[in-house]
Amino acid sequence: MSKERVLITGAAGFLGSHLCDKFIKEGYHVIGMDNLITGDLKNIEHLMKLEHFEFYHHDVSKYVHVPGEIKYILHFASPASPIDYLKIPIQTLKVSSLGTHNILGLARAKNARVLVASTSEVYGDPAVHPQTEDYWGNVNPVGPRGCYDEAKRFMEAITMAYHNVHGLETRIVRIFNTYGPRMRLNDGRVLPAFIGQALRGEDLTMFGDGSQTRSFCFVDDLVEGIYRLLLSDYFMPVNIGNPNEITIKEFGEEILKLTGANQKLISLPLPTDDPKQRRPDISRAKELLNWEPKVSRAEGLKITYDYFKSLPKEELFKTEHRKFN
Ligand code: UDP
Repeated sequence: MSKERVLITGAAGFLGSHLCDKFIKEGYHVIGMDNLITGDLKNIEHLMKLEHFEFYHHDVSKYVHVPGEIKYILHFASPASPIDYLKIPIQTLKVSSLGTHNILGLARAKNARVLVASTSEVYGDPAVHPQTEDYWGNVNPVGPRGCYDEAKRFMEAITMAYHNVHGLETRIVRIFNTYGPRMRLNDGRVLPAFIGQALRGEDLTMFGDGSQTRSFCFVDDLVEGIYRLLLSDYFMPVNIGNPNEITIKEFGEEILKLTGANQKLISLPLPTDDPKQRRPDISRAKELLNWEPKVSRAEGLKITYDYFKSLPKEELFKTEHRKFN
């Protein structure tokens, strides 16, 4: 029997590549697509030789053509770190607007179910804590994060419209801060920034006084939640993330302890519109998907640290710092 075919956009990225692994493991034929602006072929090198993996080097913001049947589409193409979308705001806007439109059109043509990757950024700098799916958010459309946040909000809106108008089977996941192997060392996110700095013997750059909070989910937990959501029959947005909340200062201290580095945390100015607090309410995912995270931060950080340590030395020194205050 021939395998069911899944299209994953953003396949060479951090989350996309882990999703490719998951669907290969679950016995699907995986078609990965990426324009490689922020993705890296190294993340899927190990899949390239497989009979049931194929790769299209394509920008999903342009018309998408994939021959043959498709059962599921997962739309994960998008820059996803503040340093990236500040550098390439127009591509960021296009991939979640024009790109999502193309993906929904393809899903309709193939009669495929589509899951789109939304984000906790739709809640902006949230006035409600923890964030439930029915909170509408507090987003600045013209600030530095506007290109990402508003594009993702548009993505949700057009996905619901295709569901309502065309009866398309759609799923919307709102992803909270996630970490793990294959994050880019120089993507400016706090975890690779801190681990990179610890490994290079530099002080850790804490933005502001470090009292802002985040809740970090290990990638394997996230992938499992997404898989369950895709297979469920629920079309409204679902938060997937780890509710274990921590201040950035405490997080920096954890990294110093883990790496055994003797450096200290130094304070740099807080970027514009940096959310002060973030924690998912995951009651919906628990109830509907019987899902909750399993990997503790201690375990997840150890795995991630070992990954970064194993990278070639040159990679470690390629890091650029974010300058966008
Ligand atoms: N942050 C920091 N130092 C860094 C990078 C980030 O203190 O070198 C802070 C940032 O200001 C934010 C938090 O860490 O409050 C998480 O930032 P990240 O870019 O990882 O993701 P965000 O959740 O802001 O999208």
